[in-house]
Amino acid sequence: MSECVFCKIVAGQIPSEKVYEDDRILAFEDINPKAPTHILLIPKKHLENLNDGASDPALLGEIVARSAVLARELGVPDFRLVTNTGREAGQVVFHLHFHLLAGRRMGWPPG
Ligand code: 5GP
Ligand code: ZN
Repeated sequence: MSECVFCKIVAGQIPSEKVYEDDRILAFEDINPKAPTHILLIPKKHLENLNDGASDPALLGEIVARSAVLARELGVPDFRLVTNTGREAGQVVFHLHFHLLAGRRMGWPPG
């Protein structure tokens, strides 16, 4: 069985606060939110990060497009979409995920 925490969330072995689900994508609340709105969008299939995910550009497009739909539905049309790719970039969970962050003013550039 996979030790991947997000695969376990997809399988329902770890509970999550789901906000969207279809055949290929799951979106749920981040357990340690960094903004008033902090949703994680993930592919249901295990891809390590965007380097791995580049093999399925259609799926990436679905996730990015879905983030905008969700942001609109959640009433936060101003939002940031981030995917940390690799340890140096801040990736901790090695299952591809996009952070949808909103509800406060964001700094730039990121730290
Ligand atoms: P990363 O640093 O890899 O880009 O982000 C991983 C994110 O996953 C973090 O924001 C962290 O709070 C979140 N996270 C880690 N474990 C869990 C979990 O079991 N459930 C949920 N909902 N989020 C998690
Ligand atoms: Zn996984």
